[in-house]
Amino acid sequence: MNTQSQSTDDLRDLYRELILDHARSPRHFGKLESTSHQAEGINPLCGDKLRLYLKIDADQTISAVNFEGSGCAISVASASLLTETINGLSTERALDYYANVVYLLTGVDAANPEIRLDLGKLKALEGVREFPSRVKCATLAWHALHSAINNTNDTVSTE
Ligand code: ZN
Repeated sequence: MNTQSQSTDDLRDLYRELILDHARSPRHFGKLESTSHQAEGINPLCGDKLRLYLKIDADQTISAVNFEGSGCAISVASASLLTETINGLSTERALDYYANVVYLLTGVDAANPEIRLDLGKLKALEGVREFPSRVKCATLAWHALHSAINNTNDTVSTE
């Protein structure tokens, strides 16, 4: 076995484990009682449906974030990773993550991240790019985040 592909495989296994772990035991799961912003995301193509709850303080810090809903492993894992990532951040930085994750998953510069962030664990989502039909599963929670922060209170649909 050649060592180069070995390390790539190891990384893939690690990412796969991370996704499965978050899908099985989603973090920050359940309704948030005191919420200031929320949005719903639906992906009819796959049947993913989630609602994202945020508590945004006067200084624009996200002091709490939760989600509830149901969907495939990728949509749930992505939402779970989102909550871990943005909890405690400013809304501005959370939107930077939104732009970076959409860019990571779609390669589309529509999000045009002005700041390139170190995505850490979120890089685990990159493997989804190999499955174009699943990209919307992975971006769903992030579009809901964008909608919630902008307080449009709309349902985000991928279709
Ligand atoms: Zn899905």
